[in-house]
This record gives sequence, C-alpha cells and structure tokens, in this order.
Amino acid sequence: MAIPLTEKEVHRLLELLDDKQRWFLNTYLTQSKKSKWLEQLATKKGIVLDGEMSSDEIWDKLDDWELAEVLDGGYGNRPYQCECGKPLRFCYVIHHRKESRTYRLGETCLENYTMLSADLIKDIKNGFHTIDLERDDILSKYEQWWKLPEDYYDLDLSREIMEQLELDLPLSQIQLNKLEKQFEYELSMTRPKQTGKKSSKRYKSKHSIIVNVEPVVEYVDITYEELMSRHSEQLQLIKENETRIVSAAKKEKWELIQRMLGACERNKRFSYTKFLMELFDLLYYLKLY
Ligand SMILES: [Zn+2]
Repeated sequence: MAIPLTEKEVHRLLELLDDKQRWFLNTYLTQSKKSKWLEQLATKKGIVLDGEMSSDEIWDKLDDWELAEVLDGGYGNRPYQCECGKPLRFCYVIHHRKESRTYRLGETCLENYTMLSADLIKDIKNGFHTIDLERDDILSKYEQWWKLPEDYYDLDLSREIMEQLELDLPLSQIQLNKLEKQFEYELSMTRPKQTGKKSSKRYKSKHSIIVNVEPVVEYVDITYEELMSRHSEQLQLIKENETRIVSAAKKEKWELIQRMLGACERNKRFSYTKFLMELFDLLYYLKLY
C-alpha cells in the first residue's frame, strides 16, 4: 500500500484495530506531536534539550505557546470549531502558561493566532506530516501481518515499545531506526559480519585482550564472575559518582556498560574489549582513573 494513505484508507485501517490498540496509537502520535512542537520551539530559541530539565522547566524557560492536545473528531466529522469560526475535524489546543490563555485552532490558523514565525510553523507542520506518515507505516504493516524481526527478540526494549508489541501493533521504521541506534552494540554481536572475505578470526582467550582485530567484534571468553572480580570496584566507583555524569553521551555509555554486564551475566555474547573501552572512558571522564 502506498504511503501516505488517504484519509479514507486511514479510517478503514483504524477500524481493524481494537479500542486498546487505537488508544495506544493515538496516545503515541499525540505525544510525538507534542514533542515535535516542543523540540522545534526550543531549537528556534537556542535551548538545548539534554534530558536534564523536566518539561515544566522547559516550558517556563520557553515562555511560549505549548501544544496541549490534538483532538480528532473522527472520519467525516467536524465537531470542533477554530477561533476563526471554521468547523474542524482536527483541533490543536494550544496553551500559554504565563499568559494563561488557550486557543483551539485548525492547522491553517496556527500562525495567525500565535504570532509564531512562519518558518517555525512550517517546520512544525513538516514534523506533524512525518508523524502522520509514521502512523500510515504502522497501519499498513498491521494489515500486512508484520512481525518483529528475530534479531530484536533478546533486546532490553523499553516499556513503551514492549507495550506496543504486546498489543500486537507493529513498530514504525522510525522506531526501528531508533532501536538500531540504541542497541547498535547488542545487534552487532548477534548479526554476522558482512565483510565478504573470511578473515574473521575469533579469539577465545581467557587473559589476553585483543585490540587490533578486523572485524571489530571479537569474543573474549570471560565469565561474569571473572569480570566482576576484576572490575567490581571500578563499577562501584562509577555508581557512587553517577550523579556527576551530566553529558547525555556519557550517560548512554553508562547505560551501555550496565546492559553489557547484564548480557555477560546471562551468558550472551559479550565483547570484553568494548567493555574495557567504555569503562575506562567513563572512569577518565569522571576523573576516577
Ligand atoms: Zn481557523
């Protein structure tokens, strides 16, 4: 099925879902639109969203129009009304905290009432369009009986993603791309290398750490007990200084280290070299080494 879907096709596919699935999908899409709105506004104002601030704090700082809700009156209905009087199916409820004002607007009137720049509104609308395409992607895959690729079975997926899968809703390509990035390390351990030539030597040594190997992933045989006996003090040290890890990239590193520990404990494939690299990088960063 060609994407984007027509409004009619979207309606038909939504009818295939049960209430729980529809509710989940709608919540996900609304949340995505709210985030997109926030992200565009922050970018425009030069505020870096690093995950340090709560959304309340961000909105205080932005002091601007916030997307509060996206209402959908349903296929063929126009139960809402724009500030300009036009009847609407989709209604954007926007709210200004400091001025404590709320508007209910259609997409075409967003600019007129908010005084947000045309550029910004254009970026926001493009973002919304991408989110609608993501919805179309999920709906089309649902009709085609999409299944989660086996590579992903063992990943430590987030609660939201698990919920989506348990509801039997497919993941969008955007979500899959995020997982690819988030679990790059785990996936590289389970997928065969696509190097063409058969140069991949697998080192199985208890004590040596091989640094200069091609392809990059090698498997060093180390048990979880050995690993902990060598590194538990360092890990404990990092744990005690966890709050000093402010950079998002380093936080990701710390999460990766913990996931790697989990993998090792469960006897999954584990790269000791990579573990050491990440561990010492973090120790240097925290000035603990
Ligand atoms: Zn209007």
